[in-house]
Amino acid sequence: MPETLQQFYEKIKDCQRCALGNTRTNLVFGVGNENADLMFVGEAPGYYEDLQGEPFVGAAGQLLDRLLASIGLKREQVYIGNVLKCRPPQNRDPLPEEIETCTPYLFKQIEIIKPKVVCTLGNFATRVILGKSVSMSKVHGRTFKGKGHYIFPIYHPAAALHMQTNLSALEEDFLKLKELLAKGVEPPPVEPEQMGLF
Ligand code: SF4
Repeated sequence: MPETLQQFYEKIKDCQRCALGNTRTNLVFGVGNENADLMFVGEAPGYYEDLQGEPFVGAAGQLLDRLLASIGLKREQVYIGNVLKCRPPQNRDPLPEEIETCTPYLFKQIEIIKPKVVCTLGNFATRVILGKSVSMSKVHGRTFKGKGHYIFPIYHPAAALHMQTNLSALEEDFLKLKELLAKGVEPPPVEPEQMGLF
């Protein structure tokens, strides 16, 4: 039997593999539908996420919920997670060793969920998932081939809270996301060499 998300969570819920394990309040594993076609990946838990143990619960989360509703989706129908499972103190940027240590957990979640589309929120998650540095202004709203899924980068909702241009771009990109999901496209095969813009 393949491993379930719950079984995987039980394995890592007390993780202390990097220093963030000492400072977190809660490990924020992720929430949503284990069989989701659409998976969102953000950067790391913030203040409220750390307190509640759930990703995207603050103002950025409310905006994400609104954007989901605009394309007829509810939070329970998708999966939402982060690259890092524990909050960096004072929301500082994740350190390279923390990324390296924690990222395999995200890839395992993707392997279990098998989404058709991995939607990366902001520069950090996009860089980790695409495996290369990117300019969000150039890649947002475009579709990339991943390993067994499509990758669809969009701006981080937090970056759109106080900037109308980013909010407009997010709203437009959600409409494109809806089209991509509605196509019922079969995800690309799992072949590492296949990464690339199309
Ligand atoms: S950030 Fe990731 S690797 Fe570090 S303690 Fe938390 S779960 Fe473990």
